[in-house]
Order: sequence, then C-alpha cells, then structure tokens
Amino acid sequence: MTVAENTGVRKIAENMLGADWMDIYEKVEAGQRLSYEEGVRIALSPNLGGMGWLANLVREKRHGAKAYYVRNQHINYTNICNKFCKFCSFYAKKGGPAPYEMSLQTVRERLLQHMDVPITEVHMVGGINPRLPYQYYLDLLRTVKETRPGVHIKAFTMVEIVEIQRQAGKPLAETLQELKEAGLDSLPGGGIEILSERVHSELFDRKLDGEGWMDVARAVAEAGLTQYATMLYGHIETPQERVEHLVRLRELQDETGHFITMTPLAFHPEGTELEHIPHTTGYNDLRSIALCRLMLDNFSHIKSFWIMNTPQVTQTALWYGADDVDGTVHEYEITYKDDEPGNKRQVLTRPQMIRMIEEAGRIPVERDSLYREVGAEAAEPAAV
Ligand code: SF4
Repeated sequence: MTVAENTGVRKIAENMLGADWMDIYEKVEAGQRLSYEEGVRIALSPNLGGMGWLANLVREKRHGAKAYYVRNQHINYTNICNKFCKFCSFYAKKGGPAPYEMSLQTVRERLLQHMDVPITEVHMVGGINPRLPYQYYLDLLRTVKETRPGVHIKAFTMVEIVEIQRQAGKPLAETLQELKEAGLDSLPGGGIEILSERVHSELFDRKLDGEGWMDVARAVAEAGLTQYATMLYGHIETPQERVEHLVRLRELQDETGHFITMTPLAFHPEGTELEHIPHTTGYNDLRSIALCRLMLDNFSHIKSFWIMNTPQVTQTALWYGADDVDGTVHEYEITYKDDEPGNKRQVLTRPQMIRMIEEAGRIPVERDSLYREVGAEAAEPAAV
C-alpha cells in the first residue's frame, strides 16, 4: 500500500491541504512532476502549513532527518563593479561601501587566519571589475589551492565568467578549461536572480540576460563542472515569475544534470536602490523554500542559507523542504548583519551549527561541496 492509498495519511493530507489540493498531493506522493500551473497554485496559496507539510514529505523521502552543513570560508575579492544592479548593496558607490580589490597577498592572509578550522570549501565571488586582468583570476585560484591544499573552490557567477572570458580573449570553453586547471571546482550559480525578462530589464539590464545565463551554464556543464543555483526573491518578482524561474532551471537540469543544489536567497533592501521594499518575512522565506522543494524534482538539495534568512528561519526551514544550511562562513561582504551595520564578520561555529540543527530535531551531517559526508577525523577544537 502506498502512502497515497493509506487512508490515515490521506486524511492528514486532506486536513493539511484541503480537498482542492489532493490532486497535487497525489502527484507529489507518487513522485510525479508538478506543472507550471500547479506551481502557480502553490505559489499563490496562503496555506504555508500545507505547503510545508507537502515539501517535507519530499525532503524526508530524499534525505530522512539529515541536515547538511559545510565548513567554508567566503572571500569577496573585489566590490568594484560596472553593472549597478538596483538590488545590490555590495558594489562600491558614493555614500556606500568604499571600493576595494584584494591583492593575492590579502587573499592569502584571509585564508591563513582560519587555518585552525578544517575548512573544505572556499566560496569566492566579486563584482565585475574591468581593471582585473585574466591572469588575476588564474592566480587567485592558484593562491587558494597553494595556501589551503585540498579545499574545493566554488567561485564566479555566470556574469563573472563572461567578464573573465572577455579579459582572456579566448573561447568560453577554453577559458573554463584554464580556470579548471588553475583550481576552479564548481560555480555558485548566481547572477541571474530571477529568470524573467521583465525583472532583468527593470533591475539589472547591464548584466547577462536569461538566455545568456543559460548558455554559460551549458558551457559550464560541458566543461564537467558542478553548478549550484539560486533564486533571489522578495523584490519586484511575482509568484508566477518565481515559478517560471524554477521551471526553466528544471528544464535546464533535465538537459545538463550538472546542478546539485538550489538556494533561495532572501532580498535585503538595506543600502540598495530598492530600500522602499520591505524586508522578506519568515512566512515568505519558508514559502519560497517549500516551493523550490516541490517544483525542483531533479535537484538533490534545497539550501536554507542562514545568513540571508537568519538561523531562526533556517531551523524552521528544515521542516519546510530544506535539507542544507550552508556553512560556518566567517566573513560575508554581500550583506551586513541587520542589527550591526558594517559588521561583515558572520560566523556560526561548528558547535553552534550542530546545536542549531539538533535543536530543530534534525541530524547534523557535515558534508563537503559535493555532499560527500566528512568523517570525524576532520573534527576540530570544540571552541571553533
Ligand atoms: Fe555587480 Fe553583482 Fe552587485 Fe550586480 S549584483 S552590481 S553584478 S556585484
């Protein structure tokens, strides 16, 4: 007897979802793909509890009670950028952050500051800085690999890849191959925010458009690199555009199979041209996570990035579709702590991470960037 045929579970489903959602429940329970129209019905529904319950069915079928985390370090190598995206508070501007570009020595020093922590991943993204030559990117990757041998480097959005290729003056495939040889292991996937022509033209029209982003993603897959995916929500996008974004990524994943994780990212209006837009609420954050889990049947993992939606929401998200909480992080320059403007140091130590997950009733599992479980031999002093 399947769960769908089990009258007890069906009764719970009816109570949680209401009779008019039972068609969606049956498809989810049978592992069938939801259509765009069904996604829009979910995205428009106020029934957070029902949506979360359904997403949790999928999450637990795939991962049981496990909740993954990684020990990582973020390095944002420059905030000089010529794209001026309206939703961005990170790039250098008058009255905003002062411009910087990190020398290789600074990058090395940042890495050396955390040598006592067995970090397995270094995550690097930056602005589109036309002053940086191609050689800088190759040296950046080599510096990380030399300073922390064995770490996985997840770096460069699709937009950065286009700039790096422009600096290289070489075909994209050749550029990606050279970056790979210098140490690039995977790509974080950002840069498109929402695959909608309307949002692109209103908020970030100097950046690569959706088709261009997908073409670069295809080249990344052909180069044999793993990629992550993101969805920036809580700005001007509509529920329909969120679903369109997920359906287009799902189709691309059918084609390439190279995406590993989806991370919905809560928009932070502070310091952007969209400061009039209110901050996302926990309600909105949890709905976005549940929607991603329900629509992306060909993505293994859904991440709740605690820096963007708070550790409190992330704990709850582990029951709304998320199976991953990202990592211990250290410095993160893309957004600031809401209660401490200017503070870029954002850390959860390993014990704090474990406590956060266990308190939520899930089993913490340390992973590397490719979701291989990290053994206890990587344990570190309890305080870090
Ligand atoms: Fe530049 Fe990226 Fe910010 Fe856009 S989002 S302005 S590309 S740093």
